[in-house]
Amino acid sequence: MTRSKLPISAHRNLGIIAHIDAGKTTLTERMLWKAGVLHRVGEVHDGTATMDHMDLERERGITIGSAATQASWQSAGHSEHRLTLIDTPGHIDFSIEVERSLRVLDGAIGVFCAVAGVQPQSETVWRQARKHGVPLVAFVNKMDRPGANFTRVMEQMHKVLGVEPVAIALPIGSEEAFSGTIDLLGKTVNRWDQEGKLTTTPWSIDDDVKWSDERRYLIETIAETDDEILEEYLSGIDVSDDKLRLALRKATMTGRLIPVLPGSAFKNKGVEPLLDAVVDYLPSPLDRPALVVKGEEGEYVVECDPQGPFAGLVFKVVEAEHGSLAFVRIYRGQLHTGQSVLNVSQDTNTRVGRLAVIMADENRDVESAQAGDIVAVIGWKNARTGDTLTDPSHPVLLERIQAADPVLAWRLSPEKGSDISRLATGLDKLVREDPSLRIGSDSQTGETVLWGMGELHLDVAVERLRREHGLSLRVGDPLVAFRETPARASAEIDTKLSKQTGGKGQFARVVMTMEPRDDGDVVFVDQIKGGVMSREFIQATEKGVRDKLSAGPQGYPVMGVTVTLLDGETHPVDSSAQAFMRVGVMAVAALLENVSTVLQEPIMRIEVDAPVGYVGSVVADLQRRLGQLQSVDESGDHATILAMVPLAQLSGYATSLRSLTQGRGSASMVLDGYANQINRSINLKMK
Ligand code: GDP
Repeated sequence: MTRSKLPISAHRNLGIIAHIDAGKTTLTERMLWKAGVLHRVGEVHDGTATMDHMDLERERGITIGSAATQASWQSAGHSEHRLTLIDTPGHIDFSIEVERSLRVLDGAIGVFCAVAGVQPQSETVWRQARKHGVPLVAFVNKMDRPGANFTRVMEQMHKVLGVEPVAIALPIGSEEAFSGTIDLLGKTVNRWDQEGKLTTTPWSIDDDVKWSDERRYLIETIAETDDEILEEYLSGIDVSDDKLRLALRKATMTGRLIPVLPGSAFKNKGVEPLLDAVVDYLPSPLDRPALVVKGEEGEYVVECDPQGPFAGLVFKVVEAEHGSLAFVRIYRGQLHTGQSVLNVSQDTNTRVGRLAVIMADENRDVESAQAGDIVAVIGWKNARTGDTLTDPSHPVLLERIQAADPVLAWRLSPEKGSDISRLATGLDKLVREDPSLRIGSDSQTGETVLWGMGELHLDVAVERLRREHGLSLRVGDPLVAFRETPARASAEIDTKLSKQTGGKGQFARVVMTMEPRDDGDVVFVDQIKGGVMSREFIQATEKGVRDKLSAGPQGYPVMGVTVTLLDGETHPVDSSAQAFMRVGVMAVAALLENVSTVLQEPIMRIEVDAPVGYVGSVVADLQRRLGQLQSVDESGDHATILAMVPLAQLSGYATSLRSLTQGRGSASMVLDGYANQINRSINLKMK
């Protein structure tokens, strides 16, 4: 198969990041079609798009999971390149997935709508990409729509995202008359017919005159990033296009410049030049900095070396009809069928049965894969998203992303009592695919509860339980992740457990304090001096302390607290780890009574994007939900409203925003932090 012969330098692992509706799915489809892996193009609105492999995603037109699809691309006069498209979710509710997919890809295409421009969510995801140092090229899509404005989007990218975009192609004609693009470096004109067939012609003499200023601007922008080119350019030498491309490639890798191209995915225009730009400007796995892993013994570097010991990361587990697929990014070494690998995260050894690459909707078996590759291991029952796999004799832990604590939960109960175990199986599968979901139970009713990052996240999860497991479920009132925190610092409290009732008694004594802290952590400080207590007893005390803190006097976990162990006393016969654990529990109970706790609730940072005419009603609604307005920014006919709102007040927000703005507003929210609860009579009814 040709794939194994391509050198690593000819691989591009890339993602497409975009605001919902910017055209990510359509563009992905068109890229796969142009790259020959798809023989027909489906439309998102008729539900046949290929990357969205779950029915549910099809129906909602949103992309949730991060599957990876492989294709190859070769344009005239160039060598073949292998593209692996990693699907990145656009909705902020799934931001853990965005983070994770950004870690396994080497570069990305940022898609913007030529009419809507830079929207709040593209801003968030874009910033995440920058944080991970992912090089980007940008595609300004929907150039065929009325109101499309390529230059305005470039200006917004500069202003809102703080990047330096540089147009390498320009649109010819716009709106309904958008017919092609000008390639400023290659000095060619690209035109597409109704069927999306491309014809490329060299610039005419007229074109040369017409586009010379734009070309000069591009060359100057590139020259400013490269001293040698700048010198040649200033001394009047005609710098070769190859040299310019190479310099632009370097500037893209460091994030200094972002090449931008216009197009219309839907009308099949501009896709081939974009694929060329991916090859020309986005990095291969070898161009990326080596992975630096922070371990307990300092930093450890994992180089992209096919000859090194194997190391890889499971970045997505998909439960498909024919078994589970664990998508692995290989960072070092090789993976073969039949090989034994260590799952470092779970401390188990596993044998690799089948390996496959996914080409659109078809799985193709392969014997091996190497550093820089993305491959699916078929049939691993226990793999979880986020697991690190390595050569058993060279363990190293790659994954350190912690899912943010889920903030919202729904109570779930099956309509039929006999479905309890099916519900458990279904939930278990969901959590393996998406570790930012957690399963729990309601301490009062014993009902199963599912915790997630927000309403949409939970809604999608519950729909999947319904469809994929045929469960009829009742969804009860939601639970919000409240917490308690000490109202003040405590006095020193001396607690003693002493039971001498004949035979071996129990004895433990500790002196502790408690104080609030702002970062929300639970910290245990050991200030025992002179070996008054053994290590074992101190650890047992800490365990008791943490156990007791997991449910405070008001029934919620106590967080944002430091407990300091100042002194202790042991008895040579009657003291035991058990006794110190108990005294830890008793001491915390006494401390909590001493300080009393205040209830805190999650506060969401919410960004609403809506046409200017709806600002008044959106703001009024946010205020009714006890939101604190931070800012309203108007740009053109759109406004971005930023507010901090208690999560408990946001039930059904997506639906109500849709009706307030006649479907034209969109919102994204992330946990901003916790604050003392504003009002006690929270209305949590929503379903
Ligand atoms: P995603 O949410 O980013 O994946 O966006 P989709 O690919 O689902 O596209 C959203 C909507 O925009 C769909 O109705 C598409 O048909 C439409 N669309 C996508 N690309 C274009 C384009 O280039 N021009 C026009 N006019 N519509 C487009």
